Amino acid sequence: MLKYYAQLERYEGNKALFDMIKMSMVSTIANEPLHIHAEGLRGTGKTTIMRKTQDILPPIVRVKDCIYNCDPAKPHCPVHRGMSAADIADIGIEAIPMPFVEISHSAKVGTVAGSIDLAKLTDTRKPEAGLLPGLIPQAHRGILFVDEINRLADTAPEITDILLDLMGTKPGVVQIEEAGLPVVSVKVNVSVWAASNPDEDPGPVEEIRRQLSDRFDMVCYMGRPTSIDVLARMLKENFHTTKLEPEREQMNLAAIMKKHEEYTETLLRWAEIYRESDLPDFVRNYIARLYVKHNLESIRAIEAMQQGAVLYSIINERDQASINDVTRILPLILQHRMDADSLIRVINDDSKGGSMFSTGGKKAGGKDETAEDAEFFKKEARPLKDLKRKDLINTEKSIDFNRD
Ligand SMILES: [Zn+2]
Repeated sequence: MLKYYAQLERYEGNKALFDMIKMSMVSTIANEPLHIHAEGLRGTGKTTIMRKTQDILPPIVRVKDCIYNCDPAKPHCPVHRGMSAADIADIGIEAIPMPFVEISHSAKVGTVAGSIDLAKLTDTRKPEAGLLPGLIPQAHRGILFVDEINRLADTAPEITDILLDLMGTKPGVVQIEEAGLPVVSVKVNVSVWAASNPDEDPGPVEEIRRQLSDRFDMVCYMGRPTSIDVLARMLKENFHTTKLEPEREQMNLAAIMKKHEEYTETLLRWAEIYRESDLPDFVRNYIARLYVKHNLESIRAIEAMQQGAVLYSIINERDQASINDVTRILPLILQHRMDADSLIRVINDDSKGGSMFSTGGKKAGGKDETAEDAEFFKKEARPLKDLKRKDLINTEKSIDFNRD
């Protein structure tokens, strides 16, 4: 059995998921949420990959014992808000693992959002003094993971509403309500990670709660591994003699931990770069043109393109985001927001070049973008234009993108 992030199998079919997770980890470390959703059949390892990132997420530094994970530089919680640097220094600081909090579809509102501790409440005009923060406020500066989000959207509308609020803005907001008392709002900076199997009951999220589906910046559809080598290795990992080799595991442990340290250092370095990075104007203009020309309608989609293009260029160690970076993340950003035909049209339009590049999209002396794309698709993915409609998850043509 695989125990650690470094041991996870990487193959063509899950590369996009690893990339999406890397982008979200980097963004979260830099304090800007990136909400991601992995859709796929059972056995594709999507939830395992997401959960195992806990092995490599860097620690965060918070005000000592603060369950809201207050950043010592800008404390936000009801207890530490407004305190001076000297006061915070008196309380002290501590490093804790980056929060990775999981909620299930059967969770209760009070557990997820929080409640008001009536016993502690002395002044009903200031209910935040006696707040018991739920799982979401405690995930501040980290990741909130929801497995089977389609089931949650179907059976827990009140929790879904909380997620909609949380993901509606960056940073998000959680409201804590108690009968007869004013509502208390808590700021929460958290990336929501979700997984679901759209082929199982109750079906894909976009058909149950479109608004929730659109809140995800990126969605990755996971295929089954098809490589014989990969499957053979997976079989071996699960074979009884492999499982009964604790010595082998022991021997590898040091190497695995070293690998994890390297991953963590890389994430921190990328986050540092991300904090300082901007999108070149011509790429921003290009994204704006996509929006107008293809009637994209979801502003969230083009915001995700802007954030995603920069992140994608960074995790690929490039100095600056290019139109290529936008092209490569388009399926992650648009696949859950439009029907397959329109998506293919956007991608094709994009790779054709021509008038779309008239604002100077090609860097002087740069490689031919179209050729580079063809090369990329050959190596890393099937071009969308080669996919049949049924290969794409969302074939519902009637989606409307009216935002609340
Ligand atoms: Zn605090």
